[in-house]
Amino acid sequence: MLNVEPLENGTVIDHIKSGKGKKVLEMLGISELNVGRVALVMNVPSKRLNKKDIVKIEGAFVSENQTNLVALISPNSTINIIKNGKVSEKRNVILPKVLDGIGKCPNPNCMTNLEHSKMKFLLLKNEEYTCHYCERSFNAEELVRN
Ligand SMILES: [Zn+2]
Repeated sequence: MLNVEPLENGTVIDHIKSGKGKKVLEMLGISELNVGRVALVMNVPSKRLNKKDIVKIEGAFVSENQTNLVALISPNSTINIIKNGKVSEKRNVILPKVLDGIGKCPNPNCMTNLEHSKMKFLLLKNEEYTCHYCERSFNAEELVRN
């Protein structure tokens, strides 16, 4: 396994579904440009998942609202906030109740795709999202496929 230096201060996103780490970084809008060092470790052996990806972001405490977006891609991910070399907060990711301006409606005839207008999705009880405009329902991963 690759050796990645432990973080002194920052955010670790662990238990990401194998192969989805890059998508997680995209989702969070994280690049080398706007934060400190970022490590993406792929295909790490995991008891729980067999294989997983891990993202480590140095120097940024990613907010709960932000990290909950990870649930759209990899619902079993876990978040560790590291302060002064110690885990100061552990949390799970939870599907956001409302997605405002995030994702793309998979219905090609939806007004949001025709007019490139702002999209909005509301979480349903069965963990699907319904498009605020065309009212069709989709699972989370379908919304963030592209
Ligand atoms: Zn729609």
